[in-house]
Amino acid sequence: METFHLAKSVPKPHPQSPPAATFPRRALTAWFRRAARVLPWRCTRDPYAILVSEIMLQQTQVATVIPFYERWLARFPDFSSLAAAEENDVLSLWQGLGYYSRARNLHRAAKTVVSTHGGAMPRDPAHIRALPGIGRYTAGAVASFAFDLPEPLVDANVARVLARLLDLHTPIDSTAGQAALWAEAISLAPKRGARIFNSALMELGALICTPRAPRCGECPIRKSCAASANGTAESLPRKKPRRTRAELAEHCAWTMHHRRILLEQQTGKRWRGLWKLPALPAAPHTTPLLTLEYPFTHHRVTLSVFAQRAPSPLHENLAWHALATLADLPLTAPHRRAIEKLCSCRQQEAG
Ligand code: SF4
Repeated sequence: METFHLAKSVPKPHPQSPPAATFPRRALTAWFRRAARVLPWRCTRDPYAILVSEIMLQQTQVATVIPFYERWLARFPDFSSLAAAEENDVLSLWQGLGYYSRARNLHRAAKTVVSTHGGAMPRDPAHIRALPGIGRYTAGAVASFAFDLPEPLVDANVARVLARLLDLHTPIDSTAGQAALWAEAISLAPKRGARIFNSALMELGALICTPRAPRCGECPIRKSCAASANGTAESLPRKKPRRTRAELAEHCAWTMHHRRILLEQQTGKRWRGLWKLPALPAAPHTTPLLTLEYPFTHHRVTLSVFAQRAPSPLHENLAWHALATLADLPLTAPHRRAIEKLCSCRQQEAG
């Protein structure tokens, strides 16, 4: 007698899951064809362009991404042009999107595609996932959107739809919650037409199954939705309680000379390659010129900026930059904000 073993990496379907066979895929994809927004990355099958859009969309809203995406493709139209670019140019073009590690990983992924795959995105999802900075979601997005492979994906929008579909009360950011969502996505992914199906699930989360006040009355998958039937949609999905943010203090120097400012290039993991105001080891015994707060991972940082003389000699990561050139310099977002505030104060004082 033959025995069958479930592969360890394939999670079992969630016990509350409605049978995938009865899921109204056609109603969902018909709704998508009727109601979906026209977005530039939906009009292409180019895996490079799709990868760029997916990386940009990871922490940024659609409306913000569109002009960045178009500028990026005009400057770096393919893996080869991006792989050949200097990191400084890559980071400069990314300015305004934040989370610069995404730009660095995209740059590294382009270099790997050129050096290992002859400049063309591999089709095998395992090879896509092996590229720098590409996780399970992004690999599924590229494989299904560019190659129409039956790969599942779970992003924030899909997680919300599936949690409600299952009436899943387990926190979606827990290991068990993630396993349940991916198991459901695997069981729903169609053998053919995954490109439209995955796009439709994401769009449903963006337009109908919204975080607040989901429009269940207009939803094409309502008849399969356990949360809608149980009246729990608005309370889902659940998340683990948030950790309180630890407070951090950051002290930096403000050193100007003939409309040039002294800046420090970062070499550590955080903000590597970007420029910022030079760090001071401790707060000087003077009043700061400016303080501002910004969030950083699980911390709230209070940045205090103090007037300082230039050290002599300058250490190797310090350099003078003309104020007029800062627009093209990859600066960290909070330090750019501090510099702009201080410059505008000084202009007002001078005026
Ligand atoms: S029926 Fe309501 S809760 Fe269920 S998927 Fe549709 S919009 Fe979301």
